[in-house]
Amino acid sequence: MWAWARHIETELEVNELIELCSRLLEINLVDNMDSWEWIGAENKVFSVGAVKNLLNKSGQQGGDQQTPFDECKWILNKINIFMWRAAANKIATVEALRIRHIEVQEDSCAFCNDGIDSVAHIFSSCYAASVVWNQISSWCKVQNLFFFGFEDISMIHEFVGFSGAKKEAFKGIVRIAAWCLWKARNKARFEQKEIRIGEIVNKVKALGFLWFKYRSRFGNIVWDDWCKFVIMQVRCFLGPSI
Ligand SMILES: [Zn+2]
Repeated sequence: MWAWARHIETELEVNELIELCSRLLEINLVDNMDSWEWIGAENKVFSVGAVKNLLNKSGQQGGDQQTPFDECKWILNKINIFMWRAAANKIATVEALRIRHIEVQEDSCAFCNDGIDSVAHIFSSCYAASVVWNQISSWCKVQNLFFFGFEDISMIHEFVGFSGAKKEAFKGIVRIAAWCLWKARNKARFEQKEIRIGEIVNKVKALGFLWFKYRSRFGNIVWDDWCKFVIMQVRCFLGPSI
């Protein structure tokens, strides 16, 4: 029974009443004594393990990374970390700084001056990125690369039809390219260095060759083959020379 001082009138009041009623419907009153219970575990029992499980669960659900990060072993670890951070929007773009209430005067992309300086723009929609991806795709002989989000960059090696050594090489190349784009963005933004797409792609090729040759199991690769993206499956076994 309600004892209204006046009738409810506005839409807001009606909505509030509906919400109140639906909340009351969820309440089930019983005669037992009140007690505390831990709602973080299904059995309502508090334990350190239950807290750990809860934290792990909320980390997975609320975290920025929905899938476990797929590391590439032959590139430098700092590039893997960069990939993880960029996918989680944790690199210092103007957009990410603004989310953290840090105001930046110049907010447009240092490459094209058109889009906003954000992960989505720098690595996907900017013309500089699209030219870099275009050149990488013709080097590696895959269909033109288009990315709708940064996660696509981390996963593209799964969808181009490569396997074995080629897949491993391509996975690293794409990541080195993203990292080189970021380095070029920093130079353009903070040192006013003009962007040269050719230089970025050459750097990707050179660094990629160096690391693939000396940090992967495929040390028999030669520069000419690398430039044609001819990656043989033969492994190089290092051992004492006879
Ligand atoms: Zn741009």
